[in-house]
Amino acid sequence: MISRPKLVVANRKMHGNLSDNRQFMESLLRHTQQHAAHYAICPPHPYLYQAQQLLQGSHIAWGGQNMSRFERGAYTGSVSPLMLREFGCQYVIIGHSERRQRGHDNDESCGERFEAALNAGLTPILCIGETLDEYEQGETDLVVVRQLNPVISHVGIEAIAKGVIAYEPVWAIGTGKAATPQHAQAILSFIRGHIGLLNEAVAEVTTLLYGGSVNPSNAAQLLSMPDIDGGLIGGASLIAEDFIQICKIA
Ligand code: PGA
Repeated sequence: MISRPKLVVANRKMHGNLSDNRQFMESLLRHTQQHAAHYAICPPHPYLYQAQQLLQGSHIAWGGQNMSRFERGAYTGSVSPLMLREFGCQYVIIGHSERRQRGHDNDESCGERFEAALNAGLTPILCIGETLDEYEQGETDLVVVRQLNPVISHVGIEAIAKGVIAYEPVWAIGTGKAATPQHAQAILSFIRGHIGLLNEAVAEVTTLLYGGSVNPSNAAQLLSMPDIDGGLIGGASLIAEDFIQICKIA
């Protein structure tokens, strides 16, 4: 079996300011070390320059929380993949449920942006996951396949391994009710199996994350599951000590 390096990503959503970000990034630099796991922070776009200034040349990567599929043009309020690259981003989150739910993102546009991110040299982190209603109806497998398939058909199966897939059940995000390690493992193993139907080698090396109320107390169990290659961390990335603890667990 291939051992995949762990990846822990802070999704700081619309939180932080210059001084709080500085403290967060400086303590991350101080208290984590380059070892087998990879770490990244996704602050709001205006702070990417600050992340570049503070993290350049370090073991911590940074990324955007969203991007346009276009390189430039009359798209007021949008940020292009080239702009993220210019500010040193390695990662970009694509299709977070908070954007899907508000109608900003859909399965089709996620495929286009996954491709645009790869073309710009970014690593897209594609978020997929079911709502509470879908979970209760037992539709999780259907939903993740419905969200994943348009991306696979858009970029081709080989390109999937160049990105990251984050399983984030909507009912677990920001609720304090993380999925059980068994549920998260079952779905991520299903996702890996689904990719494996098309290409086993790609399935083996694709980084799969779990996200949704990961905290220092549940991280060890979640991250020890065989198909969970790391976490996308929201709330617990707002407190440096909590996030550092999760990084150390990984
Ligand atoms: P949470 O958010 O850790 O606060 O649940 C995760 C996410 O939205 O990516």
